[in-house]
Amino acid sequence: MRTRSCSVDLERGQGPLTCPTPPTGEFPVEEFRTCLLEWYNAYKKRHLWRLLWAEHRNPYHIWVSEIMLQQTVIAAMLPVYERFLERFPTVQSVADSTEDELKKTVKGLGYYRRFALLRKGAQKIVEASPPLAVRWPRNYEEWLQIPGVGDYTAAAMSSITCNEAAPVLDGNVIRVLARIFDQRMPANDRSVGTFLKLKSRALIDPFHPGDFNQGMMEIGQTICRPLQPSCHVCPLQNVCLASSRESTHLAPLPKVRKAAVPVKLRVNIIEQAGLIGLFPRGQGAKFLRGTQGFPLSLRKTEGYSLDGYEARLAEGKPLGTFRHHITQHKIEAEVCLLNGSGSQANVPGIRWVEKSQVSDNLMSSLDLKAWRIAHDHL
Ligand code: SF4
Repeated sequence: MRTRSCSVDLERGQGPLTCPTPPTGEFPVEEFRTCLLEWYNAYKKRHLWRLLWAEHRNPYHIWVSEIMLQQTVIAAMLPVYERFLERFPTVQSVADSTEDELKKTVKGLGYYRRFALLRKGAQKIVEASPPLAVRWPRNYEEWLQIPGVGDYTAAAMSSITCNEAAPVLDGNVIRVLARIFDQRMPANDRSVGTFLKLKSRALIDPFHPGDFNQGMMEIGQTICRPLQPSCHVCPLQNVCLASSRESTHLAPLPKVRKAAVPVKLRVNIIEQAGLIGLFPRGQGAKFLRGTQGFPLSLRKTEGYSLDGYEARLAEGKPLGTFRHHITQHKIEAEVCLLNGSGSQANVPGIRWVEKSQVSDNLMSSLDLKAWRIAHDHL
């Protein structure tokens, strides 16, 4: 049973929910948990997946949301999440789907490999289940066995759906904790990571681990933002060292980033009899592996060659250029139009699509940018 509580001021619409103990001496773990959970219960966002979980207690709704939120902001994933649940209402429906169906449904979100893995994960769960029931993973370790589920997702899933005290450490939580403990090191520094992992294990509320994790993430998203955190409305202000020392601009320091790698590539728009060639990118491709799009040629010392293959394509008619980023790669892309059947022999698995259907079949923003340029010339 809790012995202290925060003064939750619901009349003000938002905090501060002041913790009674300042950050001196032993860290006030109980107060920290109480302040966080009271704030979360009062102000949490009513996201669709939270409402669905409250109503149905079906891990599927949380799992899909967690996969979609990887590398994607909430505003971008929301409409896709609704569309996805309409098309695939159950884990069985994902297991029965084709990769193409799945990718069309999540078009525009990027990082398509996560959805191919979601499908494999769904198949694994369905195969391990008895007839007419779903046996969901029951703890962190079991979630970790599901394809596409790493440390973060396993912690989120097991804390929310299994009530296991597995702390999540995403970028938002790392920032909040680094400020609470005034860690003035780059957020991706290994020693800070180890320190914060130990702290998060000690802090997580064993009775409400899912709410605790979601509360930490939401404070990072809405209050403890990278620039100018709103400490005056933060429920954790009285236990936060960086806030009391006015060092929030130092804790954590910016990540040490990998140097940008410049890449030159050609996006080949192959046209034949009014149709456009699209191509399934194989596992050997450097970029956009597992997606369908226009054949890409990468600039190498000896000239341009098809990404993932040794083949070369004829030089086409240049239509325009654009810039694009994929992870640390800074891409300069040239869109080229190739005519005739000569090119297709070098592109394994090419299929021909009506011009009006091309954009519906593209999965990446790089392909969509190229098609916007090419479309004006066709
Ligand atoms: S008090 Fe300020 S710096 Fe500390 S966790 Fe809250 S918002 Fe972040």
